[in-house]
Amino acid sequence: MLSAAEALERLREGNLRFVSSLSGDERPVRRIRGADLAREQEPFAIVLGCSDARVPAEIVFDQGLGDLYVIRVAGNIVAPSQVGSVEFAAARFGTRLVVVLGHSRCGAILATLEQLRQPSSGQSRNLRSIVDRVRPSVEGLLQTELRHDEDALVSHAVRHNVAISVSHLRHGSEVLEELIEVDGLRVVGAEYSLETGVVEFFDGAGAP
Ligand SMILES: [Zn+2]
Repeated sequence: MLSAAEALERLREGNLRFVSSLSGDERPVRRIRGADLAREQEPFAIVLGCSDARVPAEIVFDQGLGDLYVIRVAGNIVAPSQVGSVEFAAARFGTRLVVVLGHSRCGAILATLEQLRQPSSGQSRNLRSIVDRVRPSVEGLLQTELRHDEDALVSHAVRHNVAISVSHLRHGSEVLEELIEVDGLRVVGAEYSLETGVVEFFDGAGAP
């Protein structure tokens, strides 16, 4: 299994291929062959991403079947089932890199902002459970000068939300904590730009 650093490098290279394919006429680099269908999965990275239809991890990282273990949920939030999925993949496949992948103009962030500004009681309990997990990344920012600049507010909130998910995965599970401590597991944050197709990784604390 690849180390976290090697896995990160492979994702960076894949995203570069994806981005360069956007400007040319060539089709996306990855081709799927019949032999790939039933092979054992050996995911070298776990990606917790948003359900946004424009951000499929396999495509933006130019990876094939079996390469990525992907969990997608609106707002790339961390609830117990997401932690459990990451624990499962890290323990079962020995995958050593976890990426929380947020993206620009995330609808979950926008919906949370809307809910904070104009609370409506009509929201379903299920949707509210997502908004409630995004809320801490937005609420504090609304008390700052950023509230006068919608674009800057949303972009800060996206990054803060990624950082919160990263921190939750790093500290919200004994299994993952131990893998980080003794086994080289790394959890990093990243942001995908809907405008350029570029993924920017946030090393260190999970936020720039
Ligand atoms: Zn989103």
